[in-house]
Amino acid sequence: MSLHKQIMGNEIMTENEIAKKQKICIQCQNCCKYITFLLPAEKINDLFDYYIKRGFTIEEIKGGPWCGYHILEIYSPCPHLTEQGCSIYNNRPKICRDYNGLTDIAMREKCMWLLLEKEKEEKGLVEEFDVGGWRN
Ligand code: SF4
Ligand code: SF4
Repeated sequence: MSLHKQIMGNEIMTENEIAKKQKICIQCQNCCKYITFLLPAEKINDLFDYYIKRGFTIEEIKGGPWCGYHILEIYSPCPHLTEQGCSIYNNRPKICRDYNGLTDIAMREKCMWLLLEKEKEEKGLVEEFDVGGWRN
């Protein structure tokens, strides 16, 4: 393996890709601030008012493979989050090391790594950007 590549989470990334992702995560921090999850319509109906009263926002997905599911979201920043990033970065939990906002349907639209995908599309590159699990 090249000295300029590293294994991060489940993927091999160049230093340039890692640096770009780090920079974006420091600006974004959304997955450290919001708790989001997906529920199918039948699980929402009876509990809709309950979730709203508990402070969640609920958005229905109207098309695509997750059509009919609802994204539940609540603002709940992690106590380890600072303006400079994660205060326990070297000891952060495995779930944080492996997390990829782009493959989390409930978070994807908030994940600023989308910018990297758009950048790649604009350059006319057809292959998918390798976005496997690593952040911050
Ligand atoms: S532990 Fe660190 S990386 Fe994990 S959610 Fe908290 S601030 Fe974010
Ligand atoms: S993984 Fe995505 S949602 Fe999380 S901080 Fe980085 S850019 Fe933001």
